[in-house]
Amino acid sequence: MKAALLVVDCLNDFLDLKGALNCGAAGRDAIPAVAREIAQARAEGMDVLYACDAHRPDDAEFELFPPHCLMGSWGAEIVPELRPQDGDRIIAKRRFSAFYGTDLDLTLRERGVDTLRIAGVCTNICVLYTTADARMRGYDVRIPVDAVASFDPTAHHFALGQLRDVLKASLEGTGE
Ligand code: ZN
Repeated sequence: MKAALLVVDCLNDFLDLKGALNCGAAGRDAIPAVAREIAQARAEGMDVLYACDAHRPDDAEFELFPPHCLMGSWGAEIVPELRPQDGDRIIAKRRFSAFYGTDLDLTLRERGVDTLRIAGVCTNICVLYTTADARMRGYDVRIPVDAVASFDPTAHHFALGQLRDVLKASLEGTGE
């Protein structure tokens, strides 16, 4: 087994309370757990990758959600608490899944990674669809539950159920 940590959308627009689509207190509360995951991954010599929304002004996703994480803007920056280090890989994405239209799969395969730990936001959107795509591609997925969050608590819990029961991701660290 070779695992890598994927930090999903830990960007100002999602995690800063001034962000365009911020997850509120739930998002703020998840930051220390994501920081713990990053520190643990580094200590264990795991690769750390960040999947980051980076939208164009006319991005078709803005038919589904209000504008957010515009390429090069403050909202698209990784929050200061979770800054990457040299050697971390940043995967810019324009859709919910970090695999869609990106070189994430190629990057993981080049590194021999077969297991992803996924942390970040939102549980019911980018975490869920990224996990779905990871599972379709044969990766094992582990999710530390305190390190994922959503603006919508009902959707968060529904998504955890889907992640566990349908996608067979391992949920770690709670009674979920
Ligand atoms: Zn987006």
